[in-house]
Amino acid sequence: MNLNEEFEFNGFPKVRLRRLRRTPAIRDLLQETRLSVRDLVSPVFVQEGIDEPKEIEMMPGIFRIPLVNLVKNIQELYDLGVKTFLIFGIPKSKNDRATSAYRNDGIVQKSVNTLKKNFGEKIVTVTDVCLCQYTSHGHCAIIKNNVANNDESLKVLERIATSHAEAGTDFVAPSAMMDGQVKNIRKALDNSNFNNVGIIGYSAKLSSNLYTPFRDASHSTPEFGDRKSYQMPFHNTNEALHEIMLDIKEGSDIIMIKPALPYLDLIYKTRQTTLLPVCAYSVSGEYSIVKAGAQEGWINEDEVVMEFTTCIKRAGADIIITYHTKKIAEILNSC
Ligand SMILES: [Zn+2]
Repeated sequence: MNLNEEFEFNGFPKVRLRRLRRTPAIRDLLQETRLSVRDLVSPVFVQEGIDEPKEIEMMPGIFRIPLVNLVKNIQELYDLGVKTFLIFGIPKSKNDRATSAYRNDGIVQKSVNTLKKNFGEKIVTVTDVCLCQYTSHGHCAIIKNNVANNDESLKVLERIATSHAEAGTDFVAPSAMMDGQVKNIRKALDNSNFNNVGIIGYSAKLSSNLYTPFRDASHSTPEFGDRKSYQMPFHNTNEALHEIMLDIKEGSDIIMIKPALPYLDLIYKTRQTTLLPVCAYSVSGEYSIVKAGAQEGWINEDEVVMEFTTCIKRAGADIIITYHTKKIAEILNSC
């Protein structure tokens, strides 16, 4: 059958795709990609030394919260069906060795402990494992002779991950983009009998211009230089797939791509490359751009958020970390 036969019947077009779009019920029947609250992960910022939630200026609607507000905050999201939380800590004290990142009474460790006491296995906790919130210079690494030192940083990442496991987290998510971080953390966890704690590798974390609001949120702007010697160039596909392949070999249980929206090709290619679950992190800048446009009245926030997030899922993401989690959950629950 040639193409003309396929498309012509008695002189009329045989295929009329508009039949399939005629009514809302037909469109609903045939919708290929469906977002679920269960796909979503909500980032949470817990800060030491504050008494009440502080709204993040560049991310309207997102707050840094004190530990005392954590359970209430998570309960609200849990009641909407959200079960997975990515925890970031903002400590009171920082130094060039990031020692406050692996204290047993550190802010992330206390947060995980509190959540597991209150929610147990009803929720999934993921902890960000990095140095940048805890170093006085704001880099994701130990700096030696003005250079981010890979192997010194690995030792600190191992300690942080192990301390999070001791606090009871389900997953650790190393985000420093140090070579060998997944392998070293896997070994350190196994050596401490935490073989049940999973790793979500920030496998392809691109050196993006969309992180600015997050650095405001987590007080982690580098004091000098930039992160281009460890986060990977946004121009490179093969390099991203190489990073992903290495993380799989090193023992990552879930692969993460960050940011999400400008990187749908990487999400798609990763989905085609691995059988592991793929997680996409829709970052702070993606959130703030939508918020700003909506505040100006130029776009409809709800509709744009649903479109963007559905497209991230359509590209192949099984799990989506997004600051819009609460909004999406409310929209899905009202359908
Ligand atoms: Zn970092």
